[in-house]
Amino acid sequence: MPISQSLINEFIKIAGRENILTEEADLQSYSYDAATADLNPVIPALVAAPATKEQLGLCVKLAYENGRPITVRGSGTNLSGASIPEPGDGVVIVTNRLNRILEINETDMYAVVEPGVITAQFATAAAGRGLFYPPDPGSQSVSTLGGNVALNAGGLRGLKYGVTKDYIMGMEIFDYRGELVKTGSRTVKYVTGYNMAALMSASEGTLGVFAEIIIKLVPPPKASKAMLVVFDDINKASEAVAGIIAARIVPCTLEFLDKNTVKYIEAFTRAGLPVEAEALLLIEVDGGHVQLVEEDAEQVAQVCRKCGCANIRVASNAEEKNKIWEARRNALPALAQARPTIILEDATVPRSKIPEMVAAVNSITKKRNLEVGTFGHAGDGNLHPSILCDRRNKEEFARVEEAVDEIFDVALKLQGTLSGEHGIGQAKAKWMEKETNRATIEFSQNLRRALDPKMLFNSGKKFV
Ligand SMILES: Cc1cc2nc3c(=O)[nH]c(=O)nc-3n(C[C@H](O)[C@H](O)[C@H](O)COP(=O)(O)OP(=O)(O)OC[C@H]3O[C@@H](n4cnc5c(N)ncnc54)[C@H](O)[C@@H]3O)c2cc1C
Repeated sequence: MPISQSLINEFIKIAGRENILTEEADLQSYSYDAATADLNPVIPALVAAPATKEQLGLCVKLAYENGRPITVRGSGTNLSGASIPEPGDGVVIVTNRLNRILEINETDMYAVVEPGVITAQFATAAAGRGLFYPPDPGSQSVSTLGGNVALNAGGLRGLKYGVTKDYIMGMEIFDYRGELVKTGSRTVKYVTGYNMAALMSASEGTLGVFAEIIIKLVPPPKASKAMLVVFDDINKASEAVAGIIAARIVPCTLEFLDKNTVKYIEAFTRAGLPVEAEALLLIEVDGGHVQLVEEDAEQVAQVCRKCGCANIRVASNAEEKNKIWEARRNALPALAQARPTIILEDATVPRSKIPEMVAAVNSITKKRNLEVGTFGHAGDGNLHPSILCDRRNKEEFARVEEAVDEIFDVALKLQGTLSGEHGIGQAKAKWMEKETNRATIEFSQNLRRALDPKMLFNSGKKFV
């Protein structure tokens, strides 16, 4: 149903003419997200950019009352099609003007933010007040905290510090009527209501619209040590990951890069990575005492040596450490520029199953003659096998789709999951029943219908 001028005027009345877009040239920028490789863009009928909580609530109410599909959008960096607008002349509500940090409380170690605050800017502001916000998705320089909550984003520090959900103390949410719902509080403990903040984590814009988020902050570590461990055999690297976990050491970061990924990162960044390596582990340990950190680092090095690593480079200063992490953060862009299409997966397995999963990804892609680069948060069991291909080549793409199916089958057989952190969105909705069962899908749909009776909140995502 095309959008009428009178409805456009009502949106303008709420947010101002310059913050309501209806021209196709402007709308196109909101028709896709970072999962463009295998999903088609959808042009919405209208984009609204409210600047205040009140405007946000009124936009939700107006769109819902008029039967418009609603897709909330942070920065559109998700990798699962979760912020591609719904078909049917939908409304996109973008949160980029809701970008204020409302409070950072040093004494009680929390912050209150609007949903459009950029993740890295928030972490920097917290650091400026002597506090630490650990979740650090690779997209942190552009992603929003609202988007991070809606996807329960992880990042490089998930192993020790957890993921976004572990830092949500409370929220304000607009329901489908545009009414403000509150959950959680500024207190460490809270059992007053349902734990709706937990429900909203990974909700992918399907249950309501976050208006404010109360975020837990922690003291920063006092010492850290980073190292790059070189392996001439990929199996030895994945065994070292399992070995470190089994030795009860919890590094803050334990990342895996296979040979192909190292090759593309090095070509992209010239960071000085050892391209002859079959695999690298990038590891950081941190803590409150220098001596303990040294001991943990030595224990990690011992496990790596026992697993037959070729050599270990320890970062001797902050610059060298940053170089290691900068190289890691470039894994996705570096692989993405290698071929016209990258199919990046997020299969996650119990950590002890990493060696089996890595071997399976390589054999699945090899037997279909596909090029793959695998990297990821190995310490979390969270791998990103990335198949490099060209979607326009139908024969090749059919092989890619078969490979992805098999990768998921193996992950599930190993008691893993379809997605550790990138979400389901549109991209993986078709596999949901395989991981769960029909009753789980129906239970989730019932919950969803109770909170969204007209099924207008991002309805083609997650459970379809
Ligand atoms: C280069 C790159 C690296 C990445 N690295 C990582 C990584 O290491 N770890 C990781 O977990 N992820 C990673 N990601 C994906 C990451 O999850 C997303 O980038 C991020 O969490 C999404 O934030 P966003 O602001 O872009 O949200 P969007 O993509 O705009 O939206 C994501 C979802 O959130 C919903 N949403 C947004 N705002 C609200 C709101 N106010 N209320 C309700 N729903 C809302 C949207 O409807 C959508 O469903 C990476 C992505 C890229 C491109």
